Amino acid sequence: MRLALFGPPGAGKGTQAKRLARAHGLTHLSTGDLFRAAIRDQTPLGRQVEDLLQAGSLVPDDVTNDIVADRLAALGHGGFVLDGFPRTVAQAEWLLAYLAQADAPLDAVVSLQVPEEDLVQRLSRRRTDPETDAIYHLDFNPPPGDVPADRLVHRPDDQPDAIRHRLGVYHGETAPVEATLRAHTRYFEVDGTGSLDQVQERIEQAVATERGLTGI
Ligand code: ADP
Ligand code: ADP
Repeated sequence: MRLALFGPPGAGKGTQAKRLARAHGLTHLSTGDLFRAAIRDQTPLGRQVEDLLQAGSLVPDDVTNDIVADRLAALGHGGFVLDGFPRTVAQAEWLLAYLAQADAPLDAVVSLQVPEEDLVQRLSRRRTDPETDAIYHLDFNPPPGDVPADRLVHRPDDQPDAIRHRLGVYHGETAPVEATLRAHTRYFEVDGTGSLDQVQERIEQAVATERGLTGI
């Protein structure tokens, strides 16, 4: 199964991508995670993109497409779930062409639907655990008691100014990708509100119905 999760910042792409990857043996490919790892390791890529991530602006398409190409090539024919890519029309066109020439098109794109006011609430209280890569929310998905609070990270782009900027970038540059995806892939809108289990079930059902299978 080759799947892409689409949606605004805070829609739950990372949370659901991890769950789907674990449940169905897929590789989770998050461009945001790849950039954050490069920043943490202070690689040349990390130094190049650090200020952009901090501000909540997009990394240039050619840089982003190159790292995705590297990862997809390393996967061979393995299944994957893309999270946070494509985010521009140019990235989407590049991805569709890349996968077509590899004879490995996307099986489905799932767009997570969450009201804008929920997004702000979700992002401002998001915390991540760098040791386990878990994604928490202080109210909706709190970290277990044995995770020390000082280990949790409040992402710099989850501060109010950067959140506002990222939502603007989403509406300006990413939302138009929907038309491209709708035209060229099996594209499903899935309600991204409710419990983590409910959202996962909705995604699995949408994709499974399409494939005529009982699971993905
Ligand atoms: P994205 O990758 O789309 O930016 P995340 O998966 O990081 O989104 O989720 C953003 C925040 O919302 C996190 O704090 C996460 O715990 C929380 N979250 C994810 N799914 C839900 C949900 N169904 N209900 C409430 N909060 C959620
Ligand atoms: P979000 O929770 O907002 O969905 P991500 O972890 O997916 O956050 O992305 C964090 C940041 O990484 C983005 O604001 C952007 O700076 C950069 N980034 C991630 N994916 C892409 C992409 N496909 N194109 C350009 N920049 C990206």
